[in-house]
Amino acid sequence: MLEFKDVSLTYPNGHQGLKNINLKINDGEFIVVVGMSGAGKSTLIRSINRLVTPTSGELLIDGENILKYKEKDLRKLRTKTGMIFQQHNLVKRMSVLRNVMAGRLGHTGTMRSLLGMFPQEDVKLAMKNLNRVGIGEKAYTRADQLSGGQQQRVSIARVVTQKPKVILADEPVASLDPPTSHVVMKDLKRISKEDNLTTLVNLHFIDMAQEYADRIIGLRDGEVVFDGPVSEVTDKT
Ligand code: ADP
Ligand code: ADP
Repeated sequence: MLEFKDVSLTYPNGHQGLKNINLKINDGEFIVVVGMSGAGKSTLIRSINRLVTPTSGELLIDGENILKYKEKDLRKLRTKTGMIFQQHNLVKRMSVLRNVMAGRLGHTGTMRSLLGMFPQEDVKLAMKNLNRVGIGEKAYTRADQLSGGQQQRVSIARVVTQKPKVILADEPVASLDPPTSHVVMKDLKRISKEDNLTTLVNLHFIDMAQEYADRIIGLRDGEVVFDGPVSEVTDKT
């Protein structure tokens, strides 16, 4: 369970990125956060793994207020909350398989990860997850040889290989064409449901949100202006 209690974030220049956010998110929910550019979607999602730090309120993950976490606790938090970005997700010159295994870094000992040595079970897990997104046969291809959509599916494989509890996807399809966007969203949703992962996805488009979300959170100027199941979204919303 993920809970925002009166969470606000003021950027150093005085801009209020989030204003009194109150949300309860259940385990396994697939949530799409929608809003115009600048509404605060990215700030909301990034708060959950402390890429940005809210200035007041409480943000609870399984009852623990992560806003109290110190620098040393962040690695644990970021292993629990896997992130997918719009682009520049993968290390270009590395093979697809190595990129996916990078998802294990938070679990691997420091010495092993410095040397790039992964236990055999991590290799197996990475291959399994590549196959789940239909990219198994590209395992030994360099990441930058893949299309944008394939790269995003590799990002999904990497994030689940990390075995997080929460997936945070910040505009994961914003640079893809519509058919490719649907392939990526379908993979993300299927895998999120199969592994019972709480997922928050930022999207620009309401129609795409309606197609995939269990629940839609609408933001405007840093405030929640809509929160409900897809069935409650009407043309008037
Ligand atoms: P969205 O993801 O919905 O496009 P963001 O969360 O990126 O929105 O940004 C919300 C608002 O906060 C925007 O007005 C943006 O310009 C502002 N903002 C984002 N990051 C910073 C920052 N580091 N300093 C000041 N303002 C910022
Ligand atoms: P996005 O819309 O994808 O969130 P932006 O282009 O708005 O990305 O922001 C890119 C980076 O610039 C982010 O790190 C964000 O925090 C920062 N940023 C955005 N708006 C501002 C701002 N008004 N002042 C300072 N930094 C900002």
